[in-house]
Amino acid sequence: MTARHTVDTITDDALDTLYDQLAAAREALNSVHRTMVHDSRDWARDRRDAWLYAILIGWTCENDHPHDDDCMGDDPLTETAARHRWDADTVARVRSYRAAIAALGVDGAGQPADRAELPTVVCVETKEQ
Ligand SMILES: [Zn+2]
Repeated sequence: MTARHTVDTITDDALDTLYDQLAAAREALNSVHRTMVHDSRDWARDRRDAWLYAILIGWTCENDHPHDDDCMGDDPLTETAARHRWDADTVARVRSYRAAIAALGVDGAGQPADRAELPTVVCVETKEQ
């Protein structure tokens, strides 16, 4: 974590560091985004998956247009919230978190996820005694 600066105290180097950190965080989140959208699981079924999806991908249409039946607007978030009994405060919190991620410009841009990008899971065979 870098020290907090003001417009009067920040240096070019400190500003470059902040932009580098932002770019690294954006790329990491883009990697997560790509991994999630290429995973065929039902992200709405499990409440923890639904929560992660709500924040990192978003259940609502984020296009700037009049929403219709094709894009479904807020319907997927409304349905997911009902399924997992998220109250209004929880929905407001997830919308806030989602807005923060969206503001970073995380949209999955970059190289498509491939197996090399995914963490390696090593299965250790155990023998019963
Ligand atoms: Zn829409």
